[in-house]
Amino acid sequence: MSEIRRLTGFKPTGHLQLGNYLGAIRPIASARPGTESIAMIADLHALTVEHDPATLRSLTMEVASTLLACGVTAPIYLQSALSAHTELHYLLEATTGFGEAQRMIQFKEKSSGQQQVRLSLLTYPVLMAADILLHDTHEVPVGDDQSQHLELTRTIARRFNDRYGPTFTMPVGVTPTLAARLMDLQEPERKMGKSSSSPNGTLYLLDPPEVTRHKIRRAVTTPPGVANLREILAAVTGGPAPEFDGYANLKAAVAEAVIELLAPIRKAHDELAAEAVTDALSSGLSHASARAHATVSRAKNAIGLCL
Ligand code: AMP
Repeated sequence: MSEIRRLTGFKPTGHLQLGNYLGAIRPIASARPGTESIAMIADLHALTVEHDPATLRSLTMEVASTLLACGVTAPIYLQSALSAHTELHYLLEATTGFGEAQRMIQFKEKSSGQQQVRLSLLTYPVLMAADILLHDTHEVPVGDDQSQHLELTRTIARRFNDRYGPTFTMPVGVTPTLAARLMDLQEPERKMGKSSSSPNGTLYLLDPPEVTRHKIRRAVTTPPGVANLREILAAVTGGPAPEFDGYANLKAAVAEAVIELLAPIRKAHDELAAEAVTDALSSGLSHASARAHATVSRAKNAIGLCL
């Protein structure tokens, strides 16, 4: 039996990018012994802002196939395929104050200036708490933008356990030692994300080599920009970045290292059969189901529902 269980969620709102790989995918693919990782494709979380159904469906399958191409052998499943997530979400909504949800910085940032704000944008941190608590998760890799949500998860779990008896495992947040926060190549004060305001800001895992080279050549060379390029090089090569004579040489070294890292991922992705992806998702779902349903039953029973 594994001692430490880790859950990592990937929101299918865009193509997976280098920050996802270094900050979240590589730690799953190379987890230390005694750690069990679960990769959840957080498709329900993609419904908190305007979305296009066909794009969501195709990105969901692309995230799954890219995770497999990256060598993830841990269970991968779709959040929406496991109804226990939404069941537990509701029980946890009944444990969370409106003010607590409203105080979330991400809610304030993403809702400010918007005409139409979906209620799911307010409540998704509670769904995130359900995601984590469902699996009796011990560790959650979190970037600093999600640490407030993890704190809310801990508050909800503590409150539920105090009121209704021990039900949930208390999770802790962990930060990857390397590449915890890769920055956008064009706006190095912003985290590299699946979408960028500039076409050259994000390095996608499935970008062809010439696109990777072009984006890195165009990267800004302000001090934070250079620090970010050096961090990318260090994280990709697994050692400290050496000193370079001029930015062009630094950029050439970063580009070659990233291209070498991505080549086998692109190749594996090209060769992956659609059936291999659906098979992996269905076996990931079977793996995740039993524990998740057991957690929901425990929580229903504790809160006073008849089973
Ligand atoms: P998301 O892209 O928000 O679905 O994030 C999926 C995972 O990738 C999370 O664990 C993030 O912390 C990680 N991640 C996303 N972007 C970056 C980045 N720029 N640097 C490091 N880790 C990242």
